Amino acid sequence: EILSGPRQRRLSRAASVVYGKRKVVIGGDAPVVVQSMTNTDTADVIATAIQIKDLARAGSELVRITVNNPEAAAAVPAIREQLDKMDVDVPLVGDFHYNGHTLLQDFPECAQALSKYRINPGNVGQGAKRESQFAQMIELACRYDKPVRIGVNWGSLDQTLLARIMDENARRSVPWTAQSVMYEALITSAIENAQRAEELGLAGDKIILSCKVSGVQDLIAVYRELSTRCEYPLHLGLTEAGMGSKGIVASTAALSVLLQEGIGDTIRISLTPEPGGDRCREVIVGQEILQTMGLRKFTPMVIACPGCGRTTSTVFQELADDIQTFLREQMPVWKKQYPGVESMNVAVMGCIVNGPGESKHANIGISLPGTGESPAAPVFIDGVKAMTLRGDRIAEEFQAIVLNYVAK
Ligand code: SF4
Repeated sequence: EILSGPRQRRLSRAASVVYGKRKVVIGGDAPVVVQSMTNTDTADVIATAIQIKDLARAGSELVRITVNNPEAAAAVPAIREQLDKMDVDVPLVGDFHYNGHTLLQDFPECAQALSKYRINPGNVGQGAKRESQFAQMIELACRYDKPVRIGVNWGSLDQTLLARIMDENARRSVPWTAQSVMYEALITSAIENAQRAEELGLAGDKIILSCKVSGVQDLIAVYRELSTRCEYPLHLGLTEAGMGSKGIVASTAALSVLLQEGIGDTIRISLTPEPGGDRCREVIVGQEILQTMGLRKFTPMVIACPGCGRTTSTVFQELADDIQTFLREQMPVWKKQYPGVESMNVAVMGCIVNGPGESKHANIGISLPGTGESPAAPVFIDGVKAMTLRGDRIAEEFQAIVLNYVAK
């Protein structure tokens, strides 16, 4: 049997994250949600609001901000206000570690302005304090009617729980490997804390789980197991994926295996930005994973050949890049004006070998002339040769043809 597509999506409850009229559903049969996180100092209201706006405009459907101290907590309502002024209604998620119980208690306007809380059960406190501080955060989530992600991370695993799982393992006649013990501790931490949250009164459809690790095979193993043990929606992400192509490839390798198996309801690509790099890259990579897998459509796709010795100029590479950037930049307006435009494909090809064939399969395609070919670029629209472009203004003319096609 030939595998013909992703496996049926794992059944999960649907959790809603709401801000005003904006409702983002995670789980159930909702599309897989792309989210991101800021890296500004949250206390810097303007810088944080601008970065959130940029992430939201790039397509981030939720944006998480760290709320790490009283200054950050005090800034959250002001950030929300700035976003309202800029007409940005993306729901905000507060990321809490160590002092979340105090911050949510002391800053009720922050607790209200956030649309979701992330609680790391490994960073809530130790011993009896852990129990009471966790309970306090859940009670505040109930009071403000906010969903919660119980986000376990293997860099900050609850050490008491890990010790308990290791003790249990030592009593097994055939002990598990250290790796399996770690997996079990991550999964148990997520599920036990979710159950505890439900006992404390948080509705089951207000809980999302994650168990983040930094190894591709570890992430796949952990989520495969976690997905069989609960019905909570799952947040996927390879934590500390790294920089540049390594981070993108590792995240894609891990997430695409899980998504293909129907596992995962929201994703975040944790890329370390290059110095001066663009934070929105993680949103674009998340969208591209989902779109290239055929799970969602965000923006028209550009199909471009890699180029080879048959073409000596970089004109077609520049054109492909320009067109992809142009299409992406138009999307915030186009998706309102031209529903369905995200399904469009545009081919930009380097020579006659595959150019006309690939161009005919796209909605619009252009085959630029390779070495030795006559200096003409046939353009195909809906599979039919529509015109031939020549001269120095091919890029501008092709962009105008794309614009005209979309408007029609
Ligand atoms: Fe090379 Fe032409 Fe193929 Fe592009 S379409 S990779 S230029 S042979």
